[in-house]
Amino acid sequence: MSGLTVDRAACIGCGRCVRACVHAGIELVWDGPRKFACATDACVLCASCIDACPVDAISIHKDVSADACDLSSFHDILVVAQCGADGAVLPVTFELVGRARELADIRGCRVAVVLGQRAGAAGADGAGQLIAAGADEVLRCCDERLNHLDAEVYARWICQLIDAARPEAVLFGATAFGRELAPAVAVRIQTGLTADCTVLELDEKTGLLQQTRPAFGGNLMATIVCPDHRPQMASVRPGIFAAPEPDWARRGTVSDVTLDATIEPRVRVLETKPLHSDLSLADADCLLVIGRGIGSKKHVPLMRKLAEHLGAELGCTRPLVEAGWLDYAHQVGQTGVSVAPRVLLSLGVSGAIQHLAGISGAQTIIAVNEDPDAPIFGVAHYRVVADCVEFASALLG
Ligand SMILES: Cc1cc2nc3c(=O)[nH]c(=O)nc-3n(C[C@H](O)[C@H](O)[C@H](O)COP(=O)(O)OP(=O)(O)OC[C@H]3O[C@@H](n4cnc5c(N)ncnc54)[C@H](O)[C@@H]3O)c2cc1C
Repeated sequence: MSGLTVDRAACIGCGRCVRACVHAGIELVWDGPRKFACATDACVLCASCIDACPVDAISIHKDVSADACDLSSFHDILVVAQCGADGAVLPVTFELVGRARELADIRGCRVAVVLGQRAGAAGADGAGQLIAAGADEVLRCCDERLNHLDAEVYARWICQLIDAARPEAVLFGATAFGRELAPAVAVRIQTGLTADCTVLELDEKTGLLQQTRPAFGGNLMATIVCPDHRPQMASVRPGIFAAPEPDWARRGTVSDVTLDATIEPRVRVLETKPLHSDLSLADADCLLVIGRGIGSKKHVPLMRKLAEHLGAELGCTRPLVEAGWLDYAHQVGQTGVSVAPRVLLSLGVSGAIQHLAGISGAQTIIAVNEDPDAPIFGVAHYRVVADCVEFASALLG
């Protein structure tokens, strides 16, 4: 049997392991006059306590036979839905459901969606929308413990659903919350996770999910598989897949599931303040993206004015964020937001591969650069060789 063992003769009861564990998987207990570390039921064998222990008192035994997983007992694709502050299902969820539907049709399996909703949330027909997007079943839970995006609460809940449903693959949206949640689920159920996939394919016969994502700074695309463990887990950023047209004639089931009484939030939220109130680059219809070619921070107000004039959101490349000209929320690319606007106007952007990774969903790209050989022209539909500041001023008239 797998387990965590504390050598009581070596343990000095310092509590560093307890502080290092984010799962409450280890605690200090009194044994006579001395305190010792002791594993709790919440331990997921992640080994963070081992790294923290200054006296090497903790060890983990892994039963290899217990790890061997009966792959044939796993079926279907599970998508973890995410909702916005207003309770509406986020677009990335529909994008994932659409792709999951295509993969499930190849494999001949079903698509289920886990939908956690805040108590009293407005977006009540989220389940119907998910079925119209391609889900066969929606597992819906409305509970006040889901009111705040507490990754630990969600992770424990989703792990219980995974234990019961045994899906072959689980997909998450790589939003800020999804990036926190997906690894928390993966470590608990001891399976692999490929983050920020840009392509997902499924082998019809084996059910092996081929998860492709940029690697080595975006210089190559790596296809990753998880052959020995189930479920296979992947996260995908907003804007990578196209959301399907809703088919309101589709039929599916909605099952109300409960959150186990033992799942209690350990975090108490006193107040929430939105950092970037209205900015939603991923959903923008029209986007102005500025790069280092604008020359200086003093031109940012001009670019804001142009964005407003065009009815566009304002995005930028990473160097502008690093220089403090704009917040990270504006960054477009591999380590920023993936966008899929109808029209993208790109000013003074070179078109580095890491930037291009985030704009492949744009329908029409108009690029302005003073260098006729700039790589951005390789993906642009309309190319303007000009000074981008003069171009912006001319557009404003
Ligand atoms: C792991 C990793 C992740 C990364 N993630 C991202 C990411 O998410 N997003 C991102 O954007 N970058 C990312 N980068 C950085 C990326 O590699 C580039 O450095 C960055 O995109 C370049 O930004 P830029 O085009 O604004 O600047 P530059 O490369 O300096 O290009 C400026 C361009 O402006 C043009 N220009 C100059 N003056 C003018 C003018 N007056 N008028 C018109 N054109 C002009 C130049 O010809 C040039 O093409 C990442 C890098 C790494 C290693």
